[in-house]
Amino acid sequence: MFQRVMTAVLLFSAYPPIRLSAQAAEYRETAGKLIAAATRDSAAWNRLARLSDTFGHRFSGSESLERAIDWVLSEMKKDGLDNVRGEDVMVPRWVRGAESAELINPRRQRLPMLGLGGSVGTPPEGITADVLVVTSFDDLKARAAEARGKIVLFDVPFTNYGATVQYRGTSAIEAAKVGAVAALIRSVTPYSMRTPHTGAMRYDSTVTRIPSAALIVEDAMMLHRMQDRGERIQITLRMEAQTLPDSKSRNVIAELRGREKPDEIVVMGGHIDSWDVGSGAMDDGGGVIIAWEAIRIMKELGLRPRRTIRVVGWTNEENGLRGGLAYRDAHAAELDKHVVAIESDGGVFRPVGFGFTGSDAARAILRDVIALLKPIGADTLLAQGGGADIGPIMQRGVPGMGHVVDGTRYFWYHHTEADTPDKLDPREVALNVAAMAVVAFVIADLPGGLPR
Ligand SMILES: [Zn+2]
Repeated sequence: MFQRVMTAVLLFSAYPPIRLSAQAAEYRETAGKLIAAATRDSAAWNRLARLSDTFGHRFSGSESLERAIDWVLSEMKKDGLDNVRGEDVMVPRWVRGAESAELINPRRQRLPMLGLGGSVGTPPEGITADVLVVTSFDDLKARAAEARGKIVLFDVPFTNYGATVQYRGTSAIEAAKVGAVAALIRSVTPYSMRTPHTGAMRYDSTVTRIPSAALIVEDAMMLHRMQDRGERIQITLRMEAQTLPDSKSRNVIAELRGREKPDEIVVMGGHIDSWDVGSGAMDDGGGVIIAWEAIRIMKELGLRPRRTIRVVGWTNEENGLRGGLAYRDAHAAELDKHVVAIESDGGVFRPVGFGFTGSDAARAILRDVIALLKPIGADTLLAQGGGADIGPIMQRGVPGMGHVVDGTRYFWYHHTEADTPDKLDPREVALNVAAMAVVAFVIADLPGGLPR
């Protein structure tokens, strides 16, 4: 399984040297060691599978999230990492409860669905209403007179996540404005095998809070065809969803303390929480594990950078971002000593490189650092980078990097029951450990640092 990787590493030493600045070139040997250590076995994938299989989902407010955090902290201590700790964060607690959608007319059929995070529930008997299918917010405006008292279904095909996810976020608001009694969306995904996708939605204080859920792509298209044929469509939607008082969670932290400037910090990681479906292997167990494994192999190789590398598993990214906000507040006094923040939250598929948001002077140095990842094909540096969890500290001036992978399959599994470790390739996961390790180590070790 690792043959191709090892071949790449061996070729690396035989090929003419890649052009690097003198400073970055000094790290070529270290980078080779980190890549070899990261890719010699399936340790990272095994750890991710253990996390997923043992605890299941890690939804904010759930016992399974807190038990998973306890386990991660105890394993980090066993690895001998420095300053392993949980930092308390109060998180929202939304509970899905039982839920269903059933087509009543023109024929009876159970419709696979997932309520959207944050939605209110329905009355116990459910909401039974006629359905109006629309294709966009503009289409809804044009047909506003037909929407009153109906369940509105937004059958919006996936174009890109940023554009399509608007429908998940605000369909309940737009539908309520025209008098609808519930809002359904077509799951936000480019590809479907009858799998519904959940995710966060929001309300606006000016309109009634109506229940909101995602149907599968196949059923959204079918209902749309029925409407086009002039058939009357009726659905019964039942949801027990409710929001309970906030509960306590933790940001997970472990460090490899710097040997010369321990108060200067490269922070990296992903979010430890997930949605309440699947086991959050891809989103975002993988992001946390690759950062954690990166410092574990540094420790194992006896590599200690000049500055501290701090790994964080932020909590509650999915339905609140409270972990990223709490980190910003708890570490406000040391944010000017944060050299860079690196986030991985796009899955741990084949690594491509990193995106960076910061100064041109820093970018010029990073270009050379990232060239060290050429042997594993992860040497692309994009013009922008960041992530939800590091967003709050980037707003306070910390330069940000986003880990970039081949995203072809990411949205197939995103926020579904199918986000499980079998979707991930142990070799690709290992390559991501290598990418995180090389970039974090070299930035943390650069004699002159990284300018703001
Ligand atoms: Zn995520």
